[in-house]
Amino acid sequence: MSGNADIGLIGLAVMGQNLILNMADHGFKVVAYNRSIEKVHHFLANEAKGKNIVGAESIPDLCSKLKSPKRVMLLVKAGSAVDSFIDQLVPHLEKGDIIIDGGNSEYADTQRRTEDLKQKGIRFVGSGVSGGEEGARYGPSLMPGGNKEAWPYIKDIFQSISAKADGQPCCDWVGNDGAGHFVKMVHNGIEYGDMQLIGEVYDLMLALGISQEEMADTFEEWNKGELDSFLIEITKDILRYKDEKGEYLLPKIRDAAGQKGTGKWTAISALNYGVPVTLIGEAVFSRCLSALKNERTIASKKLPKPSTLKFTGDKKQFLENLRQALYASKIVSYAQGFMLLREAAAVHKWDLDYGSIALMWRGGCIIRSVFLGQIKIAFDKDPNLSSLLLAPFFIDAISKAQNGWRNVVATAVNLGVPTPALSTALAFYDGYRSERLPANLLQAQRDYFGAHTYELLGQEGKFVHTNWTGKG
Ligand code: NAP
Repeated sequence: MSGNADIGLIGLAVMGQNLILNMADHGFKVVAYNRSIEKVHHFLANEAKGKNIVGAESIPDLCSKLKSPKRVMLLVKAGSAVDSFIDQLVPHLEKGDIIIDGGNSEYADTQRRTEDLKQKGIRFVGSGVSGGEEGARYGPSLMPGGNKEAWPYIKDIFQSISAKADGQPCCDWVGNDGAGHFVKMVHNGIEYGDMQLIGEVYDLMLALGISQEEMADTFEEWNKGELDSFLIEITKDILRYKDEKGEYLLPKIRDAAGQKGTGKWTAISALNYGVPVTLIGEAVFSRCLSALKNERTIASKKLPKPSTLKFTGDKKQFLENLRQALYASKIVSYAQGFMLLREAAAVHKWDLDYGSIALMWRGGCIIRSVFLGQIKIAFDKDPNLSSLLLAPFFIDAISKAQNGWRNVVATAVNLGVPTPALSTALAFYDGYRSERLPANLLQAQRDYFGAHTYELLGQEGKFVHTNWTGKG
């Protein structure tokens, strides 16, 4: 049985409700369903009232209200809930119908689901959705991947409801099977990196001894230039925010960060694929270190501090150095993220369009920024660019920023302010631009104790072993 609704949406928590309202605003008729059925009734009687939204009492009821090919989007907790709904939906769908998972699913799950459903004639899409509540309501960044046969049937809805940047939708087909969720995962990892970098800059501003108002003014100023981005903007707002006592809220917040896992997945993927995504790794570990609040409190009373604790230089110049360090480190972080995408694409044969990915992140999502426009331009100019660091625009940007960046890292070390992300970005940069690294010694050590062999320069491909001790 077929109905006249354009799409069904399962999962009436924050993301689902807001996406439904967004779809309805764009002229699509939506059927809403949720495991706990009372949420359907509440939604219809409140937020959805007067809109082109109908409810369903069961999965068969939901499917009967959809036009053919039926399109059903899931916005439920990632993991077994997604498999459970797929199992419930399949008996009520026909060949060519479409299931879309818009949750934060692991890309390997999406690969498995795409393949399993293909065998049953159902087209599966795993789509990254970014932008939180506000994005879902007024325009998220959408990163769909999976069975490409589904794309012509969902493109109109997806590109209508997505954010727009420079007049273009922040949504396009990403690639086969798990590509959309992989790109979303790397997006979240980059978000971890951006947030950690801003946190370290804030920590150095504290060491500088400037007022919180000056910090907010500085971020406000930065948001007018190269660093113009959502995260810099909200940082300024957070710094200015005062509680009901008229006091700044930020210093009262417990300094122990939580995490839901997508940053960790990115770091694990980086290790699995052998790509040096060091900045996101440090961002994840920094959250882990922050969570050891009680241990840190004890250690703070026992472990010796550096002899210099006071900044004595030119504060105005140092703030400019900080801006440069943040910008240069951000370039490194995105370069690392795109390296990971490139490697995963090669392994899984995803035909990723890196300029298009930059555009998808340009608006709607948490890492949205003006800077992503430059990344898009760089990949549009040279789609085979092996690293963003080699794009002329970014070579120039880093050459202008590097003196300030080096000064910031050196100052942080001397003052004893931990800057793992700013420092690892610089270490990566110096490693990446080095023709020679000390890995020759590593190879010799490996051969010494494990007979792992090594290659000689100029004789690549020929592996030799040395009897380093001369013993028989
Ligand atoms: P959520 O809190 O992650 O999930 C709640 C929804 O999942 C409810 O509809 C709930 O149904 C359903 N659910 C949970 N366990 C279930 C189970 N075992 N079986 C069936 N249904 C189950 O909701 P959300 O924050 O709106 O996020 C939805 C998805 O989008 C998640 O994958 C999330 O990671 C992703 N996401 C979230 C954000 C964000 O900012 N919140 C941003 C991007 C992506 P009941 O009402 O019956 O419990």
